[in-house]
Amino acid sequence: MNSGDAAGIGSAVRTGIRRRSRRVMVGGVPIGGDAPVSVQSMTKTKTGDIEATVAQVLALEEAGCDIIRITVNDREAADALPAIVRRVHIPVVADIHFNHVFALKALEAGVSKVRINPGNIGSRDRIHEVLRAARERGVPIRIGVNSGSLEEDILERHGYPTAEALYESAMRHVEICEEFGFSDIVISVKSTDVRLMIDAYRLVAERTDYPLHLGVTEAGTTRVGTVKSAVGIGALLADRIGDTIRVSLTDDPVKEIEVGKEILRSLGLATRNVELITCPTCGRLEVDLFSITRELEEALGHLKKPVKVAILGCAVNGPGEAREADIGVACGKGVGILYRKGEVLRRVKEEEIVSAVIEEVMKFQPET
Ligand code: SF4
Repeated sequence: MNSGDAAGIGSAVRTGIRRRSRRVMVGGVPIGGDAPVSVQSMTKTKTGDIEATVAQVLALEEAGCDIIRITVNDREAADALPAIVRRVHIPVVADIHFNHVFALKALEAGVSKVRINPGNIGSRDRIHEVLRAARERGVPIRIGVNSGSLEEDILERHGYPTAEALYESAMRHVEICEEFGFSDIVISVKSTDVRLMIDAYRLVAERTDYPLHLGVTEAGTTRVGTVKSAVGIGALLADRIGDTIRVSLTDDPVKEIEVGKEILRSLGLATRNVELITCPTCGRLEVDLFSITRELEEALGHLKKPVKVAILGCAVNGPGEAREADIGVACGKGVGILYRKGEVLRRVKEEEIVSAVIEEVMKFQPET
């Protein structure tokens, strides 16, 4: 086994230094080492529908997706891949289960990574063929194990899916790759159970130096999936574990990117967009803060400019918080006091708060 320095990794976590992982390249996007944590999603179209798939990838690119995974589950999907790879601008990962012919076709199509578990391909000849083709093209493999589909013998030994069982399953595939001298590997050990996936990733992080793809699998609807992903992925990233992330939601994949980016931002791992700090409101509220913040989020949420904007509902906590932000508003009865960098700029009427804040954010020059 090609393990990392477990003691070194452990002490790195304790001292707040990012876990040392080896680096692999997925097209032009590095994963691991000191590379920024990348955000991935997966298309939800039929891959054989080239137009729909390309359109979805382009929308994801626009949202800031770094790497896109596409299922290659049938012949139409495999045949569509070359055209899709040609027309998109981010690295494509082929998601393949069992079928080594699809893996070879995906590699020929120019994908940048293949998600396949070598132990599920079949004969050693087939495994060798796929790993040789990947190596020739400098394409890494993601070994992805999942608590819902562990091998029967592993399940029997452990009784039920445990962190050790997930680790053992992942390492079974890793060792097959290593036997063939292939170590361009990314590992994921996902589960719908947040605590289980956290424990499993910690084990892999302690015992190997392979880069880790983090995710809570089948996380759920937008509300539940966002919370589960933020807790699971966030806990690991806060421990400096993890090199690339995917949030899975039963929703538009663009939402997955938005949530993934927000998780990174919350930990200071991604360049901030405009950050809206708003109070929850209470009985002291003097303006229609829900409408104001909704309109501001709509107008500024996607602006790639690191500006902290605070909108507070009353004069109790408002002025202090508003002064702390780059742009702030402390509201009073039907009015707001507008601040820039702690200085009062002017008083604005309630109906002008949104436009005044947008104007100030556009003018604001963040410190570099
Ligand atoms: Fe309530 Fe004022 Fe605090 Fe908002 S800022 S929660 S309105 S006390």
